[in-house]
Amino acid sequence: MHTLKSLVAGHWVAGSGKPQSLENPTTEEVIAETCAAGLDLASALEHSRATGGVALRALSLAERGAILADMARRIHDHRRELLDIAMSNGGNTRSDAKFDVDGASATLAHYAELAASFGDRRYLVDGDAVQVGSSPRLSGRHVWLPRRGVALLINAFNFPAWGFGEKAACALLAGMPVIVKPATSTAWVAQRMVEIVADAAPPGAVSMVCGSAHDLPTMLGYGDMISFTGSSATAQKLATLPEVLSRAVRLNIEADSLNAAVLGPDVDEDTYDLFLRDVVREMTQKTGQKCTAIRRVFVAESLLDRVRDDLVDRLGQTVMGDPFADGVRMGPLATRQQHRDVRDGIDRLAEHAEVLLDGREGAATGSDGKGYFVGPTLLQASDPATDIVHDLEVFGPVATLLPAPDDTAALCALVARGRGGLVCSFYSDDRRWAAEMLAGAAPHHGRVVFGSKKIAGKALSPGLVLPQLLHGGPGRAGGGEELGGLRGLALYSQRVAVQGDRALIDAMLGK
Ligand code: NAP
Repeated sequence: MHTLKSLVAGHWVAGSGKPQSLENPTTEEVIAETCAAGLDLASALEHSRATGGVALRALSLAERGAILADMARRIHDHRRELLDIAMSNGGNTRSDAKFDVDGASATLAHYAELAASFGDRRYLVDGDAVQVGSSPRLSGRHVWLPRRGVALLINAFNFPAWGFGEKAACALLAGMPVIVKPATSTAWVAQRMVEIVADAAPPGAVSMVCGSAHDLPTMLGYGDMISFTGSSATAQKLATLPEVLSRAVRLNIEADSLNAAVLGPDVDEDTYDLFLRDVVREMTQKTGQKCTAIRRVFVAESLLDRVRDDLVDRLGQTVMGDPFADGVRMGPLATRQQHRDVRDGIDRLAEHAEVLLDGREGAATGSDGKGYFVGPTLLQASDPATDIVHDLEVFGPVATLLPAPDDTAALCALVARGRGGLVCSFYSDDRRWAAEMLAGAAPHHGRVVFGSKKIAGKALSPGLVLPQLLHGGPGRAGGGEELGGLRGLALYSQRVAVQGDRALIDAMLGK
């Protein structure tokens, strides 16, 4: 049995309590185990703050960037091994596994490239100097300084690799040491990744806890922070912890989202095809276990029947099965719990919407009828205001088709029923319609994507999170912000207004 160890105070150690099991969701076999009980978490925190933090802050931005570049290279060098682990432990197809693992190395590499242009600077300045009194010598400026604590990076089960890469890239570049806490069920790929990259950074800069160390957040203090990705329910627990509140531990939340795709009334054939491609990809990639997956599909009444037939046809062709088998395009859900939750979620939606394609029925399974399989599932609600469609996130290959009213204000109000989302995609060749969507629906999201005929051949799918653009969203999505180029460093920095003699400030911060 493979045991996942944790990197605590510079040493790889195993916990000493009852182990938690990691499964292969295709075969339901237990393939590894881990345990966080008995780990000396206080030492882990102290080592990160005192050793890792001090070492990182002594480095320039370019030197920190060189560490990220080394990490990206190492991940790339071990790519094949990491993909295999992601396929075994996460139920990922090879393509899904690449999305996660290559996403991690690409994000680290992106931040390495950004950092290279800063030379020996150690701080990022924010905006230009401003005169703050009667004399031009009286000046003020803003600077981002690394926070003097440790960043606890808590990740969800669906992106163990990318989740590590995107958070660690920003934290380490900002000068903050990290403790990586992956979701236990799929932790193996994250654990192997940290084993591969940890010593690219100074001692103490990267630590890791594998297993459910749910009391770790209560041990954080002044200067520390939590960068959390996961469900709203867990986010709420963290946000209301007395220790987090009373010690002002900064908390960034990336949570649920009922992302929508909206097809406008007048679309070119290329735009229509782009819309279909995106909905099918977002529903089936990673078996729909993406925070950015499309859950609600709004379609103008005039196109509804056509879309319904086309989606049922395309989704019905999805080849599901063992991710290691040739031709398989969609693997199982990641865990037994997920299997239960997704099937329950479909049952609940089906009480209010017609099931057009039912993934609960006849799902292809792995050998011996094993595996946590649920096929693509498409529903249709005749009333677009049906509450449950806008409230329940079914975290699998499941979406609901809804008629879109012609009135754009009414349509925006329906899209907004998701109460804050990560991403919304609009498909139209009508610029006025697009502008109305931007004004009315965009503020309810962290990112909006416009698909149109001019870019149809080269457009990126809306679920792809890019390091250049912000990730996060208001309301139920958690209200957090990650990535967005250098904006991603703000989370791990203290923005300080510096006021005084202009010459002194310029000498310290550079012009
Ligand atoms: P989850 O159950 O909330 O777990 C997320 C993480 O929190 C795991 O590492 C988990 O560790 C940890 N955790 C759970 N309870 C905790 C506690 N009381 N104290 C401290 N840590 C705790 O979520 P999940 O099932 O892994 O992920 C699915 C959800 O994440 C979906 O709702 C999805 O929408 C959301 N998600 C959002 C984004 C985004 O960027 N917005 C990205 C991906 C996923 P253990 O595994 O050890 O319990």
